[in-house]
Amino acid sequence: MPTKTFRRGLHVPEQKEPTEGKSAETVPALKQAVVPVNQHFGAPNQSLVAVGDTVRRGQKIADASGPMTVPVHAPISGVVKKIEPRIQSNNLEGPCIVIEAPDGGGPGVPDDDFMPPLDVYGCSKEDALTRIREAGIVGMGGAGFPVHVKLNPPPHKPIDFVIANAAECEPYLTTDEWLMSERAELFARGLAAVMHITGVSRGIIGLEDNKAHLKPVLEAAARAALPKGELVVQLLKTKYPQGGEKFLITALTGREVPSGGLPMDVGCVVQNVGTLAAIAEAFELGKPLIERSLTITGGACRTPKNIIAPIGTLIGDLPQSFIDIDYSGLKKIIFGGPMMGVAVSTALIPVQKNTSGVVLMDENELKAFDEAYCIRCGRCIRNCPCHLTPVLINESLESGDFDEALRTGLIDCIECGCCSYVCPARIKLVQRFRVGKQRYRNIQAAQPKPAAK
Ligand code: SF4
Ligand code: SF4
Repeated sequence: MPTKTFRRGLHVPEQKEPTEGKSAETVPALKQAVVPVNQHFGAPNQSLVAVGDTVRRGQKIADASGPMTVPVHAPISGVVKKIEPRIQSNNLEGPCIVIEAPDGGGPGVPDDDFMPPLDVYGCSKEDALTRIREAGIVGMGGAGFPVHVKLNPPPHKPIDFVIANAAECEPYLTTDEWLMSERAELFARGLAAVMHITGVSRGIIGLEDNKAHLKPVLEAAARAALPKGELVVQLLKTKYPQGGEKFLITALTGREVPSGGLPMDVGCVVQNVGTLAAIAEAFELGKPLIERSLTITGGACRTPKNIIAPIGTLIGDLPQSFIDIDYSGLKKIIFGGPMMGVAVSTALIPVQKNTSGVVLMDENELKAFDEAYCIRCGRCIRNCPCHLTPVLINESLESGDFDEALRTGLIDCIECGCCSYVCPARIKLVQRFRVGKQRYRNIQAAQPKPAAK
């Protein structure tokens, strides 16, 4: 089977060796978890608990009633000590529920509070979607889009393909690779469940060819999870951003998601590897999304590894014997991968449902040279996978011409960072585009809503 890909994109140094092939380690029992109340793309949640309440691991602690919302759950058992704003991985303050475990999670901690298991093949579609929502599952590789909404497209948008995004194209990160090598069956059962819920018979696992050794493992797991269906593992060229939804769809199906469109517009549902494993656990164990695997790495981390951590874990709180950070050499902390992640100011920021890694960079890894003037080389244009002209978007933003920035495609930018990476003048293009897009969202949010009829 030939390797597939999309046009443009970049070959970036992979930097995955320090954690590649290592088993994930579960973090030691936490003394506290700081749980962001809002971890989804939708209307804000309200806390369902008060300071002083005792909560059990898995208990729902915040929720909302809107269609694009999901609840959050206690990742550890303990007592609610505070509900207060804290800086989160997007660098913005948001409400967090601080839970402290008695005796560091030892005796006296109440039992788990999971839902009963549910047979996805024996329940209605409505019940299956409700289970996924009640488990608080959002896309674990992206912006936190609620999964139950993704799996329930309107009737005029039929789905032909369910795609598992197994590309993991971000440098440094190997958490999906670990999950596919050691929990392949769980992941494949989650994929089969999604195919069943959406009524789709064709599933594709899109795997970058730097992980080709996992193909037979995944094929065996796929056969076991779906003996009669059609679930194939397709190798993709190792190239950034191969794991971007739009590029994955194009590479695997030849279909192009239109500007401003969604995968469902071209008959596709895309789910990340960790999300599919979480879906399987929500049905089989009744377990809500209260923990995840992620990669902790970078030159200022003396103990690079994949870890399994409760949501709300503060990496800087973990014992030095487990994660050893060289604070004297630490120059930059990135939540997520180095291409699409966000630089934050401290390691005391909670792990969220969509935190796939934390990269602790040292001086050698830092390419933060002063910006120079644009030399009109065109490299940003040649390497933009969305076929935009980053140099022109940037100039429009710089000159304050926001309308021109929108006309030149600001909103179509997927914030992949390819342009910044290749720019010889070190112009912080993607950082400016993020700010510009946030400004656009603020303008949209301030628009008066049409009156209800
Ligand atoms: S303009 Fe946006 S989509 Fe294009 S390379 Fe830059 S960050 Fe990526
Ligand atoms: S890559 Fe940088 S220097 Fe080259 S045209 Fe784009 S913005 Fe200018």
